Amino acid sequence: MNRILIIEDEPRIVSFLEKGLQANGFTTAVAVNAADAISMALNHEFDLLILDLGLPDQDGLSLLEQLRGQGKTSPIIILTARDGIGDKVAGLEGGADDYMTKPFRFEELLARVRVRLRNHQAADSQPSGKNEQVLQAGDVLLDLRTRQAQVGDRQVDLSAREFIMAETFLRHPKQVMSREQLLNHVWGYDYDPGSNIVDVYVGYLRKKLGSDVIETIRGMGYRLRA
Ligand code: CA
Repeated sequence: MNRILIIEDEPRIVSFLEKGLQANGFTTAVAVNAADAISMALNHEFDLLILDLGLPDQDGLSLLEQLRGQGKTSPIIILTARDGIGDKVAGLEGGADDYMTKPFRFEELLARVRVRLRNHQAADSQPSGKNEQVLQAGDVLLDLRTRQAQVGDRQVDLSAREFIMAETFLRHPKQVMSREQLLNHVWGYDYDPGSNIVDVYVGYLRKKLGSDVIETIRGMGYRLRA
């Protein structure tokens, strides 16, 4: 059975989430402020966290940073009234796996919870053979365990999001990846397809991994040059 920690201070939303999740077979626990959330997350295992950003004692984004800093790797879905692109990017860059805005439909949240749990559990159960831990294409090497990247002998610092994008390219060598595919793989939810965030991140990767590592296929997307 999956245990979900709901970090939320609004009683109506807490009760709505608890009822819905329990009806679908999940076990729930609730933290109504960041201090409780930290101690609960550190002392108990949760399979997934649902995180409100507007908490009474601390901002949810800094709580997110603390949780990731303490080595908590469970999927985290931000559920917030803040719908600005800046908040979304900050949340996802800060290590959240998904971002949903209020008001929300329970069915959609449930679908996202299931996807996140499935992805996380699939990643955990991968065989630990060397080939599963390291991806390589040309000079570029990604260590999936340490989340470190190398180009030749040079260590390269990638942000969490850049690493996932690089991983996506290395897992699909020679394949043309459309912007929508990259949005789905890297951001995991339906960003505005008009957003240029994919192009921006391809630019970051080219700067860090080498300008010729990813080629633009006009009108179609991007491809790793193997
Ligand atoms: Ca709140």
